[in-house]
Amino acid sequence: MSKPAIDQLRERIRAAVITAGDPGYDEARAVHNGMFDKHPSALILAEQVADVIAGVNFARDAGLELAVRGGGHSVPGFSTTDGGVVIDLARMRGVHVDPAARTARVWGGATWGDFNYAAHAYGLATTGGIISTTGVAGLTLGGGIGYLARSYGLSIDNLRSADVVTADGRALVASEKENTDLFWALRGGGGNFGVVTSFEFELHPVADIYAGIFLYELDYAADLLRFFRDFIQGAPEAYGAFPAFQVAPPLEFIPANRVGDTFCAAIVCWSGGVDQGARAMEPFRDVAPVTAELAAPMPYPALNAAFDALYPKGMRNYWKGSFVTALPDAAIAEHVTHGAAVPDVSATMHLYPINGACHRVGPDETAFAYRDATFAQVIVAAWNDKALDADRIGWVRGYHQALAPYLEAGGYVNFMSHDDDARVTDNYRGHYRRLAEIKRSYDPGNLFRLNQNIRPAG
Ligand code: FAD
Repeated sequence: MSKPAIDQLRERIRAAVITAGDPGYDEARAVHNGMFDKHPSALILAEQVADVIAGVNFARDAGLELAVRGGGHSVPGFSTTDGGVVIDLARMRGVHVDPAARTARVWGGATWGDFNYAAHAYGLATTGGIISTTGVAGLTLGGGIGYLARSYGLSIDNLRSADVVTADGRALVASEKENTDLFWALRGGGGNFGVVTSFEFELHPVADIYAGIFLYELDYAADLLRFFRDFIQGAPEAYGAFPAFQVAPPLEFIPANRVGDTFCAAIVCWSGGVDQGARAMEPFRDVAPVTAELAAPMPYPALNAAFDALYPKGMRNYWKGSFVTALPDAAIAEHVTHGAAVPDVSATMHLYPINGACHRVGPDETAFAYRDATFAQVIVAAWNDKALDADRIGWVRGYHQALAPYLEAGGYVNFMSHDDDARVTDNYRGHYRRLAEIKRSYDPGNLFRLNQNIRPAG
């Protein structure tokens, strides 16, 4: 980008504009996934909607690639660009809670940590991700899976309205009453339709929860997975839980001589009242002998931040995600084989239940395309040393391929990696055509294309 163009951008916009050579450029361009070391021509550190409008108009008119950044957690590195413009909303992270209406207005750059801190002060929460540093925006626009999903649905099921800056620079409201097609598309269609500058969510009375982390020897992995498959379909919805494979990190509740060993695990959140929490943990103690556990009442935001240290910014990340409708014993056998080879503490497999309140929303009510799934599976590797790329990526791919006969063609859009472009139509499944029509209405030039991209119809 030429100096006159940058000068013109700075004249038009009040927010800070950072370019190569400016102090803070390297920090500003860094995203969560350390595999993406890109060099944008300019980063706009938006502080208000007017900055976003100016940034969208500038990128469009200049024909520059536009990346939109909420929390920066995109595994495929969608929130950065080489040579283009980034609109970074990290300075727009306010949360306003209306306790009487039980709603929250959340700015587009807030993280789940910001959200939960604000809502918890009123004893309220809504479904968000399991790590506090993930952005509300990207996570919600793809669907939003987390501990509270069985009780309250996906994050999108709690979305009441969104303020959106579209490709033509208009600021629109999308809700059940206004721009209803856009509102439908935002709930599962990812960042394809504009920059969401704020979200309005419904909140629920969730304050302290009872959390359990149980580690079992690998010999019991098949028992755990079979138990979980059957139990979680009909369990009270106050359970938000998932099984995992996990190398034991150096934490106090893990015997020092077992740190670094591989276990199968259950992570449990009981939001049905802390007084019943200890009892709610019992099925997870009965399924197999527990080698190590941490089970205690805690504030919901504490559970939301409990695993943050395993996934710091800058690690290299490669993931594979797919939806599961049935989990036969043969699939469990593959999990046992490949899960046992999980390479280190920042690698795992999670099987998130999709049932309860998630299944009470009709298949076509939102753009989220897999209401009939029973689990969202994700295999995650995060590591620091580039020399380990082939090894870590190989483990994820090998695991995923072994499970492929038991997986749906599509996966959760937010669990995709950079080599998953060919899966986009499977991920949106029967909703792709309608999404493409809506894309044509709101972004005919495909300005917002750094995402699980929906091509404008026609
Ligand atoms: P960004 O990289 O900022 O953006 C991701 C995508 O959304 C990009 O295409 C971007 O352009 C778009 N976008 C961002 N902000 C906006 C905006 N304001 N308006 C329009 N488009 C925007 N997912 C779950 O459902 N549940 C989990 O528990 C969960 N845990 C995770 C834990 C970690 C450590 C990581 C790395 C990811 C996790 N995810 C989870 C996946 C997560 O949902 C996606 O990575 C999501 O895209 C992150 O959103 P973000 O705003 O942080 O990312």
